[in-house]
Order: sequence, then structure tokens, then C-alpha cells
Amino acid sequence: MPDRTHLTGYSRMELIALFEEMGEPRYRADQVFRGLHERRLTSFDAMTDLPKTLRERLNETAAASALKIESRYTSVDGTRRFLMRTLDGNPVEAVFIPTENRDTICFSSQSGCALDCDFCLTAKLGLLENLTAGEIIEQIILVLNDVYGVGGETPHGTNLVAMGEGEPFMNFKNLTRAIEIMADEKGLFIVPGRITVSTAGVVPKIHEFAALERRPNLAISLSAANDELRDRIMPVNKRWPINELLSAAKNFEKTLKRGERFTFEYVLLGGVNDSDEQAQELAGLISRHNLRKVKVNLIPHNPAEQLEYQPSTPEQVKRFKAILESNGVSAYVRTPRGRDIYAACGQLAAKQEPNLVQIAKR
Ligand code: SF4
Repeated sequence: MPDRTHLTGYSRMELIALFEEMGEPRYRADQVFRGLHERRLTSFDAMTDLPKTLRERLNETAAASALKIESRYTSVDGTRRFLMRTLDGNPVEAVFIPTENRDTICFSSQSGCALDCDFCLTAKLGLLENLTAGEIIEQIILVLNDVYGVGGETPHGTNLVAMGEGEPFMNFKNLTRAIEIMADEKGLFIVPGRITVSTAGVVPKIHEFAALERRPNLAISLSAANDELRDRIMPVNKRWPINELLSAAKNFEKTLKRGERFTFEYVLLGGVNDSDEQAQELAGLISRHNLRKVKVNLIPHNPAEQLEYQPSTPEQVKRFKAILESNGVSAYVRTPRGRDIYAACGQLAAKQEPNLVQIAKR
């Protein structure tokens, strides 16, 4: 495959500059930008509003697509998992989660991940590659096209979460670039307020994120309230321990406007981090750092063969939540979606299963 420039990762202004260099008028750049992002076309040939000569020229030097959907799986609960491949053959996963009034797409920022969280299957892949801004955006385009048809109207708002494969803050530049391009009103028009970025705790990037002018919501995957346990289940903690992480969280909190909040994600691992004492410890940590605009999302662990952890019992999940709430901490239990197709949190590992129900290929 020739190495051609993937134009989906270009902002509208950058496309205009590129087209001017090519001796093409600005409005052609606008047409291509709208074609890629608003009409969600993945080939220049489909942009029939462009002259044939320009389409041919673009085909020679540039690409309108850099990902291919390899397989799709559908869950009994309507969740869909998409396994895609980059041109280098690395896996990229995205998950479409329908709810009554809105759609959520969980997308990947990297292929694989280097951070080695002990309860996550993606970690087993290791880091394969950082995705480009174009590849990040194209996941959303391919998922929306698959669900609603190419360019088809999306009846609900689309929320995005960067919680698929990878640590988003380890690919900060491409991620923030993708977010900026997706916000363009002549394109996908998904504004940062509809996006949540989840980090395992890359502290310097939390500071950088806090300073962004238009930024998405922040979720921090915490999953333990002391360094000893967190070092064990999330080795990133050895680099940026809990105190540093919570100071960064406090710094971020100071930049929030009235009514805005951020999230701690806490994966509940049966018998590991889900005791009453550990719930108290978490509440104490939040109070010591004077965090007032945080909510805690409790995520029951999604079991997988290669992982030794078990989910907490439903009773213990309730107790953990109740202890946080009795200490004044807002807590919510996240219902797992798409467990049966390996689409739930921590389960993304490019799993191909002949006995999983595949959605018929179109
Ligand atoms: S939980 Fe996130 S950061 Fe940790 S290994 Fe999995 S993908 Fe990477």
C-alpha cells in the first residue's frame, strides 16, 4: 500500500493550505473537508461534486481512509464491537453503545497499550502503535456509517469516550488534534463537551489538559486508594504515585466551571479493592485532597480467561457505593455493556471468536 497522506487528519485550515499549494481553489478544500467529515465518505471517488481530474489527482497522492473494519460483533444488549485494522495491520477497537436518548462511541487512541494495568486485557497486547489523528477520527466515521448508513443522519446526539485501546495521554498530540477537528461545525461537529477522556494517571498531561482552552471532560482511572495496592494493579502508579495524581486532579478541579465535575473510575475487583475499609480509605483520600467536584464511577470488573480477577458481588458493590455516599462522595455503578462480545471495560484485546455473533457484513 503506498504511503499516502490521510486527509481525515487535516483540519479545515490545513486542507485549505494544502489545496492552495496544489493550485486548487479554497472552496475545493471545503468540499473535501465536508465530504470526509460531514458526509462521512471514505473515498474520493464518492465525492462526485469534485471534478474527475481532481479526484484522480487526490487518489494518486492522498487517502480518504486508513482503517478497515475487519469484524463486527453484536451483543444481546445492542452494544456493537468493531475490530478494525490500520494499514500496518494493527488492531483498533471501537464500541457503539446505544441508550435510549443518546449514542456513545468508545474509541481507541492507541493500538494496544504500554501501561500494563493488571486487570485489563488490552495490556496483554503491549503497545503496537500510536494512532494518528485521522485514524482516531475515522473510527467514529466508520462506526456511524455502519450503524446509520454512509452519511446517514444520527437521530441521537453522539457522545465519545476515549476508553478503548490505549492510554490517551500517551498519544496526547494526536488525540487533542482529533478532538479539535471533530469539533468543526462543517464536519462531525462533536464538541469537546460531549467527549470524555480517561487516563490511568499520566500526571504531566493532566496539567497540560487542564490548560487547554476547549477541552473534553476528564476521567481518572484510580482503582486503589493506596500506593501499595495501586503499584501492584496499575504500575503507572510507580511513576506518578497517588499524592501526585490527586494534586493534579485538584489542579484540574480548580479550572472547572460551576456545575462541571470530573470522574474517578474505580474498577471493583472482588476481594482485592472492594472491602468496606477500602471504601472508607477512598472517601478519606478524596476528603484529604479536598476534592469537591468529583464523582466516582464504580465499574464491576469484567471477567476474562487470561485475568485472575473476579468481579465483586452485587451486595459488595452496593455496600461500597453506600459507604462513599455516606461520606458525602457521589458514586454511581456503571452497568457493564457488551460483556458477551468482549466489548466491556478492560476486555478489548482484538478478540476474534468464531462463536461470537457477527453482524452481517454489508
Ligand atoms: S486500563 Fe487503559 S491504560 Fe491500563 S492497560 Fe488497559 S488500556 Fe492501558
